[in-house]
Amino acid sequence: MALLATTNAAALIRRSRSWNTLFLWLYFGSYMLSALHAQQNPDSTEKKFAIAIHGGAGGDPSKWSSEYQSQRRTGLQAALDHGVALLEKRADALDVVEAVVRILEDDATFNAGRGCVLNENGEHELDASIMDGRNLQCGAVAAVKRAKNPVSLARLVMTQTKHVLLIGSGADQFGEATGVEQAEPDYFLTEQRKASWQKWKLGDKDALLHAPSTHKGEDEQLYLGTVGCVVLDVHGNLAAATSTGGLMGKRWGRVGDSPIVGAGNYADNETCAISGTGIGEEFIRRAVASDIAARMRYGHNTLAEAVTGTLTTMPAESGGVIAVDARGNVVMEFNTPGMSRATADSLGNRGVWLGRND
Ligand code: ASP
Repeated sequence: MALLATTNAAALIRRSRSWNTLFLWLYFGSYMLSALHAQQNPDSTEKKFAIAIHGGAGGDPSKWSSEYQSQRRTGLQAALDHGVALLEKRADALDVVEAVVRILEDDATFNAGRGCVLNENGEHELDASIMDGRNLQCGAVAAVKRAKNPVSLARLVMTQTKHVLLIGSGADQFGEATGVEQAEPDYFLTEQRKASWQKWKLGDKDALLHAPSTHKGEDEQLYLGTVGCVVLDVHGNLAAATSTGGLMGKRWGRVGDSPIVGAGNYADNETCAISGTGIGEEFIRRAVASDIAARMRYGHNTLAEAVTGTLTTMPAESGGVIAVDARGNVVMEFNTPGMSRATADSLGNRGVWLGRND
């Protein structure tokens, strides 16, 4: 082979009428060789998997106690490690986002599943959704009270009904009928959340809602701790899942963006997977997740351009998103002082952050 190449090169030099022709041949040869290499190693410059998770936007992490900060970091790290372990075993993106969100739902630090915030009546109403980027299949539940892991109930809506979104007692009955794990109200409502609700009830609610989050402590946040996960798996598929207790003191029956496909959650292999967190009404008004995907699809934006473009249309301190595209690019952006988040990929990049830089 080497001999053949040398002979060919010598013949080429002899045949070249000028140095220019020789250089042209050399350039063409090296171009063909690199094209052949790229074809044989399609993943050589691409990430094989990527995962991002969030534990809610809002609040100023520098105002939180170090104990609360470390609870959040530990929770995110545990969920991230589990997701990475599954992805290394070639798990499907859809299974990974469900498994990761279940872990965060079980962790009372976050506002999803156990430890969710309470509505104006002091009760819990949970929203969740999940989406498969392979085929745009999706499932969601809103204002449910009984499923221990609302994200798994959302997945059953996707796989066992011909619908996309079930709400309230209808969704809870469906959960019981399908055998999804049930829990009593006391499981969801922790002492800490009950105490913040009491504070909310006695406080000046309007001031709390409109005061900059930098003025509020960890137990005064109206929306803090929604969880979400977006994944690109080794098969090249995207998925997204989001789960929340919504906003503290929300009107009963209120549904946020988390279970609204295209607002707080979205996945499409052709563009990206997105999970949002923040004031749900602002996400629904702007169809935030769908807007980001549309900027990529029709405007040919990169993921980073699309996320920035959409977030600039949002009011200050209204939230943030995590997103991953089909090449494994991860973007985690927010217009609040902090967004608890973590990411990892198959190239070994890893990180957990609460505020802008730490
Ligand atoms: N987006 C959620 C909602 O409005 C709250 C959050 O992200 O913290 O229900």
